[in-house]
Order: sequence, then C-alpha cells, then structure tokens
Amino acid sequence: MNEPLLELRDLRKHFPLRDALGRARGAVRAVDGVSLAVARGTVLAIVGESGCGKSTLGRLALRLIEPDAGSVRFDGEDLRALSPAALRARRRDMQLIFQDPFASLDPRMTVGAAIAEPLRLHRIVPRGGEASRVAELLERVGLRPESAQRWPHEFSGGQRQRIAIARALASGPRLVIGDEPISALDVSVQAQVVNLLADLIRDLGLTFVLISHDLGVVRHIADRVAVMYLGSIVEEGAAATVFAAPRHPYTRALLAAVPGRGIKAPPIEGDVPSPIAPPAGCRFHTRCPHAEALCREQPPILAGGDHRAACHLQDRLPPAPPLQEAEPGGDRLRRLQAFFQPAGTEA
Ligand code: SF4
Repeated sequence: MNEPLLELRDLRKHFPLRDALGRARGAVRAVDGVSLAVARGTVLAIVGESGCGKSTLGRLALRLIEPDAGSVRFDGEDLRALSPAALRARRRDMQLIFQDPFASLDPRMTVGAAIAEPLRLHRIVPRGGEASRVAELLERVGLRPESAQRWPHEFSGGQRQRIAIARALASGPRLVIGDEPISALDVSVQAQVVNLLADLIRDLGLTFVLISHDLGVVRHIADRVAVMYLGSIVEEGAAATVFAAPRHPYTRALLAAVPGRGIKAPPIEGDVPSPIAPPAGCRFHTRCPHAEALCREQPPILAGGDHRAACHLQDRLPPAPPLQEAEPGGDRLRRLQAFFQPAGTEA
C-alpha cells in the first residue's frame, strides 16, 4: 500500500470527570488506543453504536480536539507537531461534514457568505472571484447558483446538508470526514445525499472517512470498515471481506441488525457498558454469546493481517452465514442505487 494519507497510531482520549468541588472522579475513556490507516482516494467507514467513540475519533483525526496520547499523521506530517498557524493552513486539506445541517450553518450568514468564508480564509480565489466559485460549488452539489442570496432557514434539511457539503468542499480538501452525514435527514432524502457523496468521492478523488451507525449505507460506499466498541477497534478490513465473513461476534451482531439485508447471528444482549469503567478482559464479554473464562480475564489483541479482529476465539467461531443480499457489483453509484431500492426489487 502507498503511504496512507491519514495514519492514526495508538490514539487515546479520556475526558476527565469532576464532582461539584472540582475533584477528579474518573474519566470517560472515549478513545482508547486506536491505530488506523486510510489510503489515498479510498473510503474508510468507522461504525459502531452510539457512544462507542467514533465521533471523538473523527475529531482527533482532524486535531479539532487534542489527544492525550498517540500520533496523527496527515500526508506524512505529524499534525501534533504543527504550530497553530501551520495547523490552520493545513485545515484547508481536511474538512468535516457534521451530522446536523441545522446546527452547522450560521443562520446569520447567507448561503453564499457561508460557502465563501473558507475561500477567503485560505485565500483560494483571487479577490472578486468568490461569487463565481460559490456558484460552481452550489451547482456541484445540485443547487441553483441563485441560492447564494438566500438564508439557511429557507432550505430543507437535505438542501442544507448539500450547502454544508459545498462549504466543506470550498477549500479543495483532500480528506473529508463525514460524521453521520445523513442520519439527521428524512429517509426520503437520505439516498439523494448519499448518492451525491458517492459521486463527489469518485469524481474528486477524495479520501473519505464515513462515521456511521448505518451498516447498510456503509457496505455500499466503503472500501474498508473499522468497527468500534467502547473506544477500541474490534474489527478492521476490506469492506467486502468484513461484510462477507465478519470475524468478531460484535460485527456479526451489528450486521444481523441490518433489516432484511444482514446475516443471522445471535442478538446482542444488554446495553453498552459505561466507558467510565469498561469491563476487564474483552470489553465485549458482558454481551458476547461466546464468552468464556479467558475473555473475562485477558484483553484480546487486534490481530489477523489485512482483516484484523480483536477476539480470542476468532479462529474457532463457526463461519458466519452468507449475506442474504445479492451483491450487485459495479461502481459505488450502482451499488447505492441497488441498496436504496426496496428489498426484493434488486435486479
Ligand atoms: Fe466474545 Fe471472547 Fe471474542 Fe470477546 S474475546 S468477542 S468475549 S469470544
């Protein structure tokens, strides 16, 4: 593999808890030793239940929050070693699309001003050239250039997310992180926005990190998948391999929960344990139907070459049943179109 565009090594972030008197009372172990690499021009999906640390990991990767330990390398450069000014300049190459387009756009700025802001900040177009670049970006995300004169509240949720995507693309980033970019939208427009993202990823050669709990969408646009549980990666590999032959019981259970499209696996019992005091040994052992004594005592290591899993029994578990859904093949757009057709209507 070429040198990855983004490389995370043993990243940790614990948020300290304090009582009313300011005394330390433990910490939320949001991200606890994550190592990942994202190859150029590929899509890595980070999946897991709410509270598993995936959004914190996305913000650590962009150095929007400071890690307690570990390194973040972008294009070979250690982001933690950059001065504030150098980091600001680097931000041009790395953008985040937020979940909630209602919160991510300033209601006091017209759409045009919001998209032009990063153009000005990073001096991307010569003075006077902003309006035409804004118009181009709006058209690129499927909106009319005249939208630049209007205000965010005049648009629907799906249109606002398109505006947020245009703003994220304004600086010409090489890496975009989408934090649940469709989950706040009406189901009726989710497919359109995912199709737009897939189109942009392909046409602009973006490197994209998709943070999502929606394995259905992930399966159809990701090249690689990392599954997070309680602050750690429990499985990582090529998306086709992970979906066809998941090794970790947690991944199998997540896939089983994709309605009508996943695999059969024992359901996960109970809630995610508290990240303040995660279980000893394998953190999944309190919910795992295969847990044995070793699992309660010793944390498993993420191992297995190109398809890694953190499970003591990964070589002893019965093979996962095959996916029920026919693989439509082809490029991302075709796979997405097939995914968003009602179940049972695929060609
Ligand atoms: Fe389950 Fe044990 Fe594997 Fe953890 S290590 S996932 S408890 S079988």
